[in-house]
Amino acid sequence: MKYGRTYNFSAGPAMMPEEVLEEIAAEMMNYRGSGMCVMEMSHRSKVFQEILDEAKADIKKLMDIPDNYKILFIQGGGTLQFSMIPMNLMKNGVACYVETGAWSKKAIAEAKKVGEVKVVASSADKKFSYIPDCSDLDIPANADYVYICENETIHGLTYHKLPDTKGVPLVSDQSSMFLSRPCNVADYGLIWGGVQKNIGPAGMAVVIIREDLIRDDLDDKLPIYMNYKTHADADSLYNTPNCWAIYCCGKVFKYLLKNGGLEAMAKRNEEKAAVLYDFLDQSKLFTGAVVKEDRSLMNVPFVTPSKEQDADVVAATKAAGFDNLKGHKSVGGLRASIYNAMPKEGVEALVEFLSRYEKEHA
Ligand SMILES: *Cc1c(COP(=O)(O)O)cnc(C)c1O
Repeated sequence: MKYGRTYNFSAGPAMMPEEVLEEIAAEMMNYRGSGMCVMEMSHRSKVFQEILDEAKADIKKLMDIPDNYKILFIQGGGTLQFSMIPMNLMKNGVACYVETGAWSKKAIAEAKKVGEVKVVASSADKKFSYIPDCSDLDIPANADYVYICENETIHGLTYHKLPDTKGVPLVSDQSSMFLSRPCNVADYGLIWGGVQKNIGPAGMAVVIIREDLIRDDLDDKLPIYMNYKTHADADSLYNTPNCWAIYCCGKVFKYLLKNGGLEAMAKRNEEKAAVLYDFLDQSKLFTGAVVKEDRSLMNVPFVTPSKEQDADVVAATKAAGFDNLKGHKSVGGLRASIYNAMPKEGVEALVEFLSRYEKEHA
């Protein structure tokens, strides 16, 4: 690792590709002859408009987003989307949610403030250690959408097969798996991701929404910022957007395109995760928290037999130069988040360290 940087296993904000950070540093004082930093630039300037247009074109290419979807950059991070989704999409006032962990629970709590929520499947019975069967969900005909958190960051679960929504639009929170593997956008009504997990700086979400879900009848019903139509009509420039985040995310989109796109990312991420899971599967000290079929390639929670030992391992990893391996406070244990930008060498070094720790404490 250059610059004395650390292998940072944080769930978010998380590592960004070194090459991207170097480019940003090089453009910091004078962005391409504009005489200013992107942070200092008018969002109405031609130079910023180009940054925005390119970011949109690049993510469209990366995800192969069909023309009938809008790409929106909205502030308020991930959490604002828990509210915006029901406020905009609950036309009939009924939505179905699949409950798989902390982030889907938060989404459910916010949706309940807006309308009727049917929890159509849940893995709460086994501490969110698996993805429930979603092949034949009881979805009312008048449901406005079916909501999933496609990768539960805290519990380390991911969907390897999407639910059968019986024709009802699927809404997916992809925050912690955004751009980690190919996804067929046409399978969804709306995909969104807070960008600080797998892409760039915190404070913004990318929302990819099918045009027919953007409503014309909400102008005098919703706060203007909360209406998807506001952002769609103004091309994400209704007010001053998070210019800096758009710029940094745009750089990451280009980096991903240059490095083989999402197919290549998926392959890398599978190989990387296998290094850690193979170790956990044979370890007598560390145990993975999730059933094999539903394990996340991005967030890997694991435990030792005791809380005291969990804490001891966290402290030992920190002393050895690995950062942020403590599990989320709601579940304890340890968690390694290994997003796109975590190099395979980082995971290999961690496994080597954990393996040595295990031998020393046998
Ligand atoms: C982090 C996260 C969020 C919330 O993002 P904020 O930007 O902190 O509001 C929502 N969903 C998932 C899956 C997340 O990992």
